[in-house]
Amino acid sequence: MTDVEATPGSQAALRRANQQRVVEALRSGGTLTQAEIARSTGLSPASVSNIVRNLRATGTVSVRETSSNGRRARAIALVRPPGAVVAVDFGTHRLAAALGDSHGGLLARETIAYDVAADPERGVRRAVWLVETVLAAARVDHATVAAVAASVPGPVDLATGEIGAITCMPRWAGFRPAAALAERLGVPVVAENDANLSAMAESDAGVGRGAEHLIYVQLGEGVGAGIVLGGRLFRGAGGTAGEIGHIGLDERGQVCRCGNRGCLETLVGSPYLLDMLPQQGAGAAPTTVAELVRAAEEGDPGCRRVVAEAGTALGRGLAILANAFNPELVVVGGDLAAAGEALLAPVRRTMELGTLGSALADLRIVSGDLGDQAALRGALRLAAASAEQITR
Ligand SMILES: [Zn+2]
Repeated sequence: MTDVEATPGSQAALRRANQQRVVEALRSGGTLTQAEIARSTGLSPASVSNIVRNLRATGTVSVRETSSNGRRARAIALVRPPGAVVAVDFGTHRLAAALGDSHGGLLARETIAYDVAADPERGVRRAVWLVETVLAAARVDHATVAAVAASVPGPVDLATGEIGAITCMPRWAGFRPAAALAERLGVPVVAENDANLSAMAESDAGVGRGAEHLIYVQLGEGVGAGIVLGGRLFRGAGGTAGEIGHIGLDERGQVCRCGNRGCLETLVGSPYLLDMLPQQGAGAAPTTVAELVRAAEEGDPGCRRVVAEAGTALGRGLAILANAFNPELVVVGGDLAAAGEALLAPVRRTMELGTLGSALADLRIVSGDLGDQAALRGALRLAAASAEQITR
C-alpha cells in the first residue's frame, strides 16, 4: 500500500505489516487459533491478540470460542477482505465521520455541530479530529484504514478535485478537500458531491433498491441532485451534473448567488424558506427547517403555506428532469423531506401539469430511507470501492 512507503520504518507501517502477516496466515490456513497464528507468523501472542482484536473491530475476522488440546482457545477466521474505510460528511453546519468495513458497511459514526462553511482548513482539521475520535472509540488502529471518502455540499471537479465556484459554502470554492484530508490522514482520499453519494446509497441500500433510473434530490441550504441512469451515477463531463438548484423558474424572482433570478434554490433552499416566514414577536418564527416542518405539522398556517409552495416549486423543477431523463423513482432527501406528504403531494400535483404523461406513468416520488445518513453511507461505499482499486 502506498503510505507504507510514504512512512518507512514508522510504527504505523510496522503495525500494518504485522497485520498483513496475520491476514496472510488466515488466508492460507483457514480457521486458526491465536496460538497457531503466533507460531506461523513468528509474532508474539500479545501482538497476535492485539491484531486480532483490531481485525475483529473492523469486521475482517470472526472469533469463536473453541478448545485446543483440552484448553480453551479462540478460533479466528477471515470473513471479508482486510481493511477499514472511513467516511467524512461535511455539512454547512454539521460534521459527521463514520467507520466502515471493507465492504462499506457502517460500523460506527459520530456527528457534531460545527460551522464547516466558515473555513475549509479548520473544517478539515476538525474532521481529522472527529475521524481519530471515531477510530479510538471503536478501538481500530489508524493503520487499518485503507481509504477515505468525503462528502461535500457542492460540485466537485473530476479532474482537479476542486469545489466549484457556486456552492452553499462560498469559502470552500476552489478548495481541494480530498488533498487536504489525505495530507493529514496519510491515506488516499476521494471527495464527492453529497447528492451523488446519497443517490448511490439510496440506490444500493435504501428506498431506491431495484430502481434502474432514479433521481435523488438533496434539499438543504443549496439544492442538488444525484442522477442514477441504468444503475450508474451520471456525473457529466466534468463531474458536476445534477446542479438543479439553478434551474430558472421565475425571471422576476429573487436574485440567486449564481447571478440569475428565481432559481429553484431561491424557492426551496433553507435560508429562503425561513426568510419567507413572518417575524412576529420574540422567537416566534422557526429558525431551522426542522422547526419549520414541525410547526407545519402542528398546523401553523404560515409554515404549512411555505412547505406547500416549496413542493410546488420543486414539482416544476422535477417536471423538467422527468421529461429529460424519464426516471422511475424520485427520492427526496434533506431536512425538508421530513415534511413527507405535506411536501410531496404538491410536488406530484405540479408534476402532473408539467410532465409528459408517458414520463409520469411509471414515476414514483418518495422520501429517502436513509435520512441524514445517506451521504455518509454513500461515502463509506465509495471509500470501499476505492480501497478495492488501491489494493488490487
Ligand atoms: Zn442560481
